[in-house]
Amino acid sequence: MYTFEEDKLITELNQKKPKRVLLQLPEGIKREGLRISNLIREKTLTEVILSGEPLWGACDVAVNEAKTLGCEMIIIYGHAKFVNSDFPILYLEARYESDITKIVKKSLPKLESFKKIALATSVQHIHQIPQVTKLIEETGLEVIVPEAKGNAFYDGQVLGCEYSSFKLIADKVDAVVIVANKFHALGVAMSINKPVILVDPFNEEIHNMDEFKDKIIRQRFAAIEKAKQAKKIGIIIGTKLGQKFGSFEFVKEKLKKINKEYVMISMSEITNDKLINLYDIEAFVELACPRIAIDAAGMFDKPLLTAREFAVLCGDLEWNDLLEKGFL
Ligand code: SF4
Repeated sequence: MYTFEEDKLITELNQKKPKRVLLQLPEGIKREGLRISNLIREKTLTEVILSGEPLWGACDVAVNEAKTLGCEMIIIYGHAKFVNSDFPILYLEARYESDITKIVKKSLPKLESFKKIALATSVQHIHQIPQVTKLIEETGLEVIVPEAKGNAFYDGQVLGCEYSSFKLIADKVDAVVIVANKFHALGVAMSINKPVILVDPFNEEIHNMDEFKDKIIRQRFAAIEKAKQAKKIGIIIGTKLGQKFGSFEFVKEKLKKINKEYVMISMSEITNDKLINLYDIEAFVELACPRIAIDAAGMFDKPLLTAREFAVLCGDLEWNDLLEKGFL
């Protein structure tokens, strides 16, 4: 189903000759760990340690883990380049090679009411963009592929937290088609005010994201309103290399101005179990991955806001502006 850029992996390792590397794989392809480790051992002089920790995104580079283990390089699979670091990182992609034309064709009747759409996909399908574009254009629709901006490496690439390219073209299209999963489609839906149609090749599903978006927006409104009542607020500073969204200095100064007590908390994985122990804190602002607050709201007992949502709490932004400008 996937290709793993194995030639590039072996060539890079034989050229750079690191003594030991840390291999990071997303959960969906962790089962490839043994095979890729064996391949590295057979074809190079490099020792490999497979990280058993989760790899949630391209941001999740385990530099500290690699240094602790004496590794000279990190190999991250399943993502395009995202983080700039002095530590050597080799990003390798896992491209999905199965035929997706059937599910794309099935989605075409859902696009009939539009004249012009934007088309984007996750990095696993990025090479399939020309094929999908052609299928959609054959119905008479005009297709725009958003140019790579910010942390996106490819034109037409959708990430979980980078939507600047979608904001730039939002006024020019009637809808956005996302060939990926619900996570990516929701991100686009929460960023711009356009219908988002998800074409999910793995689950063979097609969804209009409007209803799901409305549900999340209601949850976000409730979380912000509850957080406004809090007198004691925790500012969670993420320790992952690529997860820096907002400034804790800024949040701290704003909280002082609105007379809220605060504590700054460092955290790698943000979970409800960890937050429960901070029992006197009534609400949290997280400056790590914004999708933790937005997507996992139901998993937290106390309100957990993103940096953008905090702007509403402290009065810098109106709720309607947040709706207009997007949550991400
Ligand atoms: S910050 Fe969150 S959404 Fe962005 S790449 Fe990392 S895990 Fe994905």
